[in-house]
Amino acid sequence: MAVSEQMVQDIVKEVMAKLQLKEETTTQRGVFADMNEAIAAAKKAQKVIHRMSMDQREQIISNIRKKTKENAELLARMGVEETGMGNVPHKILKHILVAEKTPGTEDITTTAWSGDRGLTLIEMGPFGVIGAITPCTNPSETVICNTMGMLAGGNTVVFNPHPQAVKTSQFAINMLNEASLEAGGPDNIACTVMKPTMDSSAVMMSHPDIQLIAATGGPGVVTAVLSSGRRGIGAGAGNPPALVDETADIRKAAEDIVNGCTFDNNLPCIAEKEVVAVDSVVSELMHYMVSEQGCYLASPEEVKKLEETVLTPKGLNRKCVGRDAKTLLSMIGVTVPDNIRCIIFEGKKEDKLIAEELMMPILGIVRAKDFEDAVEQAVWLEHGNRHSAHIHSKNVDHITTYAKVIDTAILVKNAPSYAALGFGGEGYCTFTIASRTGEGLTSAKSFTKQRRCVMSDSLCIR
Ligand code: NAD
Repeated sequence: MAVSEQMVQDIVKEVMAKLQLKEETTTQRGVFADMNEAIAAAKKAQKVIHRMSMDQREQIISNIRKKTKENAELLARMGVEETGMGNVPHKILKHILVAEKTPGTEDITTTAWSGDRGLTLIEMGPFGVIGAITPCTNPSETVICNTMGMLAGGNTVVFNPHPQAVKTSQFAINMLNEASLEAGGPDNIACTVMKPTMDSSAVMMSHPDIQLIAATGGPGVVTAVLSSGRRGIGAGAGNPPALVDETADIRKAAEDIVNGCTFDNNLPCIAEKEVVAVDSVVSELMHYMVSEQGCYLASPEEVKKLEETVLTPKGLNRKCVGRDAKTLLSMIGVTVPDNIRCIIFEGKKEDKLIAEELMMPILGIVRAKDFEDAVEQAVWLEHGNRHSAHIHSKNVDHITTYAKVIDTAILVKNAPSYAALGFGGEGYCTFTIASRTGEGLTSAKSFTKQRRCVMSDSLCIR
């Protein structure tokens, strides 16, 4: 039987209603009333995980991959419905990417020295229970990806998810625990609280059983975690510029930039947030963006209206974050056809819609007089986040100079930004890019600690 759009909508509604009911009556796997209880349960489960062989851990991870793929559409629809952000087809792709390309136990490697004085190993051991704070922009993707890496490293995890994405995060946590139980592992490999708040976050951050905190979100949460006195992995905000120079394939650059910028309505922190192009290519680039890539060229009056709508005195208007271009334009009274997927305009780097990290498909284009000027403006726009930057160029010297000067965890050349996550590019996937603390794209080994194991005067058989 073919599954219709209406049937899927009905299933999502039914699951959301059941989750509401469950919240009021029973608890789902891994969901506790209190943060201390959640940490205690995760601690008990970690003792079991630590005793398991790597093979057994890998079986749980394989089952997580399978269940994530099976539930990809449901998780995508729940995420969009609960947060109001992003779009279902791209969120499905993100879940499949997590399922297929998040590293497992193979990421944990050993370093060895052997010689006349014996054998010394550096083994990567677990921290224990890890505290994780997750964003509303990729809620279940981050929960699942973090759990796979943390579990591969022998840890369990307690989440304090974004309040705007609680149900989706809890659904993912329940799924992770079911995957563990089905594969012979313990319950509570991933835990959380029914109502995550700043208070539950504070309890987590100061709990003696939490040795490591992984924070994925904006500058506030990363600063809070790094001030907690605990070891922290800080995956913070970005404002990635895409630089286009005169040697680029301009038509392809237009396609790549718009594809990256519009992916999941610009929610990914790595997505192109603005363009800096050298003077000689600006017109051609904008021409292809409008004529072939579904971009709407906003007039100065429309840009002003967008600015008033999108930015409030208190910051970003949350009702605009992760919305598609058509919806954003309708908010300022402009009606466009369905094929419009991005709003572009030319502006100065200081313009608020360009300088701020918007997380919506509004792409300002800044004109530079030459390559050196473009690099300078792009570095300014990245605001020292050292997160992500992109370049479209065939000049290796330009690419090298840009990479060195901008010094970001991610630099994509001649492709859409999502190539950095292994989607159309080589390499593994993560949804926690530790820009502030330097781990870069986190994986299982980021969630382990070094342990030196020394056998003196023996086991060297050279
Ligand atoms: P957000 O900062 O509003 O929230 C992220 C999480 O932090 C939520 O769980 C929130 O409840 C919590 N939080 C916020 N302030 C806190 C504080 N002072 N103390 C404790 N917890 C706090 O971010 P968001 O809107 O959910 O996500 C978007 C932001 O996250 C963007 O800035 C984006 O660039 C960034 N992001 C970064 C990465 C990365 O890998 N570097 C990945 C996804 C999102």
